[in-house]
Amino acid sequence: MAPSHALRCCKRALNWVPVLFINLVVGWSYYAYVVELCVYTIPNNAERISYLVIFHIFFFMFTWSYWKTICSRPSGPSKAFCLPRAEKELYEREERAEAQQEILKKVARNLPVYTRTAGGAIRYCHSCQVIKPDRCHHCSTCEMCVLKMDHHCPWVNNCVGFSNYKYFVLFLAYASLYCVVICATVIQYFIKFWTKQLPDTHAKFHILFLFFVAALFFISILSLLSYHLWLVGKNRTTIEAFRAPVFANGPDKNGFSLGFSRNVAEVFGDRAKYWIFPVFSSLGDGHSFLTRLVHIDPEQAKSVLQQNGKSPADGEPNSSVPANNIQHTVDNGKEKIDGGQMVSVTVNSEP
Ligand SMILES: [Zn+2]
Ligand SMILES: [Zn+2]
Repeated sequence: MAPSHALRCCKRALNWVPVLFINLVVGWSYYAYVVELCVYTIPNNAERISYLVIFHIFFFMFTWSYWKTICSRPSGPSKAFCLPRAEKELYEREERAEAQQEILKKVARNLPVYTRTAGGAIRYCHSCQVIKPDRCHHCSTCEMCVLKMDHHCPWVNNCVGFSNYKYFVLFLAYASLYCVVICATVIQYFIKFWTKQLPDTHAKFHILFLFFVAALFFISILSLLSYHLWLVGKNRTTIEAFRAPVFANGPDKNGFSLGFSRNVAEVFGDRAKYWIFPVFSSLGDGHSFLTRLVHIDPEQAKSVLQQNGKSPADGEPNSSVPANNIQHTVDNGKEKIDGGQMVSVTVNSEP
């Protein structure tokens, strides 16, 4: 086995350590709650059963969303974002960066790509050899480009992005609720053990520790959950919160924001019955996103409009439709998207 391969295997195994740690803590909390608290400590049968039912509901939802976050493979750009064979050969032969950019620009004209690098260039991943769709970033840990990448999370040993962002937010929410349920039901026994109203048994250690661990986890998870709920409301990823996406006319941190309810719907979907379950209901295909202000060059605008033909101005547009299928109505250089919201199409002077 080559040393580099062995090193990579070692690294991959080590990446699972935080997941193992979380699972050991959760496994122990399950034992401490069910056996030490409910079986050995709670004397009342009705109280025991109601605690067990509530605990298992939150335990189930928490582990379900946690494992969905871990097991959902990050989605990468589709083949449409790879350079066609002829352009790829040209790109590889070309040594001048400007000429390479021209090739990328030509290909990107037919793609719903509105964001650029800080220098205004088309975003291209040399490792994956794809034009990066909007909000897509290359993850060096996963060694791939990840659609709507939020961050690489060591606690789930996976990239959090378009395919699992909803599961991740639900995982944080259910983890907080799981801790709340534990703290709220354990506290009276915690006080009784602390004030010596209950005899010293082996359950005492587990229950005191269970309360402290749940409270500690709750505080740390709550701050992360609040941050991600704020991001959902603003339609920003963690990466975009640190570095605003750059459009043809410059950076715009609110570039993808469509208003609070539509921002929430983009992650959780538009059918309320799926919101609380870790099943996929996010809108869109992860490759293209509605933008608050669409700054596109005239060539791109023409191509988009040609693809769409004449579009009706009435009716709610479906944001699950890729951006190049958005219903646009052009009116004297203004473009109407999103049921009445006017956004300007900036005409660039570049060829
Ligand atoms: Zn990549
Ligand atoms: Zn990753």
